[in-house]
Amino acid sequence: MATAQPDFFPSLPAACSRYFRAHMRFIVLGSGSGGNAAVVEAGGIRLLIDAGLSAKQLVDRMRASGVEPSSLSGVLLTHEHGDHIRGLRVLMKSLAVPIYATPSTSRLVRDGGVDGATWKIFESGGAFQLNGLSVQSFAVPHDAVEPVGFVFRHEERAFGLLSDTGHVTKLILDRLRGVHALFVEANYDDALLEADMKRPWSTKQRISSRHGHLSNAQTAALIAELVPAGLRRVVLGHLSRDCNCPVTAVAAIRAGVPDLADVCCAEQDRTCGWWD
Ligand SMILES: [Zn+2]
Ligand SMILES: [Zn+2]
Repeated sequence: MATAQPDFFPSLPAACSRYFRAHMRFIVLGSGSGGNAAVVEAGGIRLLIDAGLSAKQLVDRMRASGVEPSSLSGVLLTHEHGDHIRGLRVLMKSLAVPIYATPSTSRLVRDGGVDGATWKIFESGGAFQLNGLSVQSFAVPHDAVEPVGFVFRHEERAFGLLSDTGHVTKLILDRLRGVHALFVEANYDDALLEADMKRPWSTKQRISSRHGHLSNAQTAALIAELVPAGLRRVVLGHLSRDCNCPVTAVAAIRAGVPDLADVCCAEQDRTCGWWD
């Protein structure tokens, strides 16, 4: 298995345009407990982040958003849970790009059947450069083997991505401080989770544990710490279908962080549109 060096430079994708080089853009293809995937592009690089929708949905939603799958520079994984890799095995049958992942995540995903791909391995906490896009990973507390979040930097702009995380550590705060935009999970509302009758107690405990998911209140507290350091725009994601809803999540963030310029919610069943 090849190990990613901090300075590898893949060739520019054919679809690379002047716009593509000059801006950082982000789109959520779908997000929620049922599956997660997004695309980030800047500096001549276009990365699919997680592949938790079916391969068909991934391809259809990318094409509907103007992203030809063959123009991707690679697939970047946060962790190995099914709602983040569900479509990966089938997608990689028709995609000749590397998968970027931590050592243990890559091992589990390869053992799970995604074995024909080229793997680029980065250590949890490691950073690497892909043309004009720098990718900084950081460890997150979640019940997966080696889960990570990311900060993407291009020229003066920084964008953070924090999904499945049980609680906010000092490391997460340090890494995200200074980002201008953030995708972050807001998985559940405390009262709705408490009142939920469908989930057994053990599942509720897992969700709200220190290695589960972030509640709206935890996410609001994180955002409140980041706004004074320059955070302006937030996309909330990974909402639980039963224990949260966009209106509740956005209201919690607005109430907790009145200074935040812009907050919206990603959806499970459709893309949320490009975000510059
Ligand atoms: Zn997970
Ligand atoms: Zn997840």
